[in-house]
Amino acid sequence: MVRVRYAPSPTGSPHVGNIRTALFNWVFARHHQGKFIVRIEDTDRSRYVPTSEQEILTSLCWLGLDWDEGPEVGGPYAPYHQSQRLEIYQRIAHQLVEEGKAYKCFCTPEELEQMRAQQRAQGASVTMYDRRCRRLTPAEVRAREEAGLPYVIRFAMPLEGTVEYEDLIHGHTVFRNALTDDFVMLKSDGYPTYHLANVVDDHLMEITHVIRGDEWISSMPRHLNLYRALGWEPPQFAHLPLLLGPDRQKLSKRHGAVQFTEFIREGYLPDAMFNFLALCGWNPGDNREILNREEIIELFSLERVSDNPFIFDHNKLLWMNGYYIRQLSKEQLVAWCLPFLQEAGLLPKELDEDTRAYAERVIPLEQEKMKVLKDVVTLTDFFFKEDLAVDQNAVKKWYSMPHIPQMLEELIRRYEALEPFTAPEIERVTREVIAWLGVPSGHVIHPVRVAVSGRTTGPSLFEMLEVLGKPRVLKRLRQAQQWTV
Ligand code: GLU
Repeated sequence: MVRVRYAPSPTGSPHVGNIRTALFNWVFARHHQGKFIVRIEDTDRSRYVPTSEQEILTSLCWLGLDWDEGPEVGGPYAPYHQSQRLEIYQRIAHQLVEEGKAYKCFCTPEELEQMRAQQRAQGASVTMYDRRCRRLTPAEVRAREEAGLPYVIRFAMPLEGTVEYEDLIHGHTVFRNALTDDFVMLKSDGYPTYHLANVVDDHLMEITHVIRGDEWISSMPRHLNLYRALGWEPPQFAHLPLLLGPDRQKLSKRHGAVQFTEFIREGYLPDAMFNFLALCGWNPGDNREILNREEIIELFSLERVSDNPFIFDHNKLLWMNGYYIRQLSKEQLVAWCLPFLQEAGLLPKELDEDTRAYAERVIPLEQEKMKVLKDVVTLTDFFFKEDLAVDQNAVKKWYSMPHIPQMLEELIRRYEALEPFTAPEIERVTREVIAWLGVPSGHVIHPVRVAVSGRTTGPSLFEMLEVLGKPRVLKRLRQAQQWTV
């Protein structure tokens, strides 16, 4: 049975690339009817951010990535927080010391710094621990322990030879052991480092496939040697391509939103995000771009994951999100958009029936134009605000025309009498006024649009007037009469 894990470190708001990793693991698990496990790697106390775990879990839920084992749901391999598994790592680290595969290192930070400075002075570009504590005699170790000196436990890397593995994305990969440091496994505070805890838990939790970002390939010589030293069969590994910005630099803030929660706040839809992230490094084998969850689960395979870095294109994501917004039913669209209008203060938190009904008519008018849900705010604010922000250039352009006072007067008179106040009826009488004035239709349509919305673009005029409703339209036309004096 396939068992994969997503193992975030709660060190901050999750990066979109990190959630992409979660998604690939989830899809892989669902494709193979396996288990998707969430494990919180919270052993780096100096980088721990208390709000981070919740942000990570909320992001997974939002995206629909449910986990079979992990925080909140538990499971047969609990606990799923590494901070609650310290004795396990400690026991294994000490076991390796006893077997001569690891050793206690008493070097102080100052000594280590001095060592590094010396190596640099001798021209070394990468510095390495010189393994001085590996050479301590048992008596020397005992003496230091008895003196109460703090220590870390380092892994005794083989000094020669190689380790190799078959990466499911990158293929056969070989590392020379001599190039890898005797890395720290257990810190002096008793917490494990990532390498130890990660390997131990992947083994104990019976993970079959480790699917994670490319940045972890460089840890492979450590992990593989740890597996070997512990006599454990390593899982299979697949390292996902890095996400880059359009300038081929590592995807970062400079390129736009990168924190996953920013995408949520901007108003991307979970289905669009899901579709887009699935294509960040994977493709279905043809050039289809719009794929739903079921299709992605069915078609997914690691063979189709590229080993080249992937360029994350915010514009493409915007396009795709717009597509998904257009596919929403009116009810779905309204449900997604209301919170954004409330957040912007355009609608009250508690909606009475009339306001809700009005919003339900307004929002769909701009469905075609929205790329992110948040666009609903700027696209429709004039429907909700009494105080319009008026485009003064448009006023200058249209309201200096001689027919305007007469036009307003006539429209007000006819609209007032119009029953029912519906788009076709409004259009009919407006066209009568245009004919009566003998001006091009744009010379009426544009100034009316500016009067009721303050701007020169927007939804189709007659529908917009119908939705705004007679009282608002009349009020705004009367206000516009003041622009002509
Ligand atoms: N805790 C690591 C991270 O934050 C996990 C890496 C791995 O999947 O092995 O990315």
